[in-house]
Amino acid sequence: MYKKIAIAGLIILVMAVMATGFWYYRQHSVSIVMDSLSSADNVVPVAIIGSGPAGLSAALYTTRLGYHTVVFEGHKPGGQLTETTYVENWPGVGKVLGAELMKRQRAYVTHLGAVLVSDTIVKVDLTRWPFVLYTDDGKNILALSVIMATGSAPRIKGIPGEQQYWGKGVTTCALCDAPFYKGKRVIIIGGGDTALEQATQIAPYAKQITIVVRKDRLRASASLYERVKALGQVSFLFNHDVVAVNGDGAWVTGVDVVDVRTKQKRVLTIDGVFLAIGHEPRSDLVAQQLVCDSAGNIKVYGRSQATSVRGVFAAGEVEDNVYRQAGVAAGDGIKAGIDAARFLTEIGWADKRQRELGVQFFAPKRVVETAVISIHSAQEFDQLIAKSDKPVVVDFYAQHCPSCMHMLPAFEAVAQQFAGDAIFVKVDTMRVPALEAQWKIERIPCFLIFKYGQLLARYYAILSKVQMIDMVRRAL
Ligand code: NDP
Repeated sequence: MYKKIAIAGLIILVMAVMATGFWYYRQHSVSIVMDSLSSADNVVPVAIIGSGPAGLSAALYTTRLGYHTVVFEGHKPGGQLTETTYVENWPGVGKVLGAELMKRQRAYVTHLGAVLVSDTIVKVDLTRWPFVLYTDDGKNILALSVIMATGSAPRIKGIPGEQQYWGKGVTTCALCDAPFYKGKRVIIIGGGDTALEQATQIAPYAKQITIVVRKDRLRASASLYERVKALGQVSFLFNHDVVAVNGDGAWVTGVDVVDVRTKQKRVLTIDGVFLAIGHEPRSDLVAQQLVCDSAGNIKVYGRSQATSVRGVFAAGEVEDNVYRQAGVAAGDGIKAGIDAARFLTEIGWADKRQRELGVQFFAPKRVVETAVISIHSAQEFDQLIAKSDKPVVVDFYAQHCPSCMHMLPAFEAVAQQFAGDAIFVKVDTMRVPALEAQWKIERIPCFLIFKYGQLLARYYAILSKVQMIDMVRRAL
């Protein structure tokens, strides 16, 4: 008996030593040689990937601690909060629009000196120091420390028809797409806070909303449930799962649902499917280089935000699958910022070393916003199209459309890049509705490209900067 206990104890001890050793090895797997930075350019002491509450809170601390900080904002500056309506649980603020909250955070860290760039990081190399980050428009950044704050992405169901009708009646963004469902019937899949919040966003438009929940109960908070119950046109279909999306080739016409208890199938005739079935951590970029758990969340160790590679930290939903609250992400971001600053001190990085080594920081040019012409009337638009001898790229957007607002900085950057070769125009569809009708804009964001007064191409899509560049090149 005692022998068995002793053997079990020994095995546990050996495993613990191996686990600690593995982590120790991973934590020390990059060799840090300061002289390797000699005369290097495109250097960033703190590179933050992601610009939600985690990334911006990290930037707040690292800039205040005196470190040159660059935030790579990706496709969605401000992160998921910009797609929610009201946030009521941000300490000390009361009720505030998510987009407004993130706008204030962006403005504050910019004021403190953080550099926010609309580039997306498409590849990273964390196997050597300085770490190398590759941007989508071909720049290589040498990062002395990295904070992963890439958040999470809405989960998709993976059922027949979902991909085919993506953007043609299937969506995850109620705030972006709700206005296109005026007088229509829609379903929302999921029973969490996101699903119920989507119902509040779609309710001003749709005539019928069915929330399809696979269990017999919701996960959502009671207060949100009370708010949704009070909306006249919302009903719940519990114990049902959606197994296929149907359509006529151009748009969704219905879904197949199954009663999970009886396995009985039936068809719901609807015009739109909103997915709200949770989120997946956005860790693909580093999944092969950092230790992640089985759900894909980056592992952090102890009470710190340190990952398995020394000098690399993670914060927010990319590492947290327990709390998933904006306030917690901000707190983790603060910890990651402090951790990164401590790491830089430990390795002996300071302004003095920058001067001694002749290091140049990565400092992208500021975008000149005047590169994009704002249109205020249909007449102004018609004249511009008619007289231009260059391609005219038109971005139809609206203030209430988060995807449109996210793309504007990238659109402005692309406009600057092609200044002289093409004309870039933005039209606020709410201010100039006549143009929306004239050019049959079915949904936004929408890009139209004109050449010699003729409509050359139409894009209904959320485009990255690289995709926009590609779009413009094709028109030139
Ligand atoms: P949740 O994980 O809370 O809920 C997901 C829902 O989708 C559950 O009902 C789940 O069902 C269902 N689901 C998951 N996978 C499938 C599937 N394949 N098919 C059908 N149904 C599925 O995610 P949320 O995005 O709603 O919320 C995430 C976090 O964000 C939560 O902590 C939430 O509180 C927070 N949040 C807060 C908001 C606010 O404060 N205003 C707004 C939005 C989110 P099941 O229960 O069976 O797993």
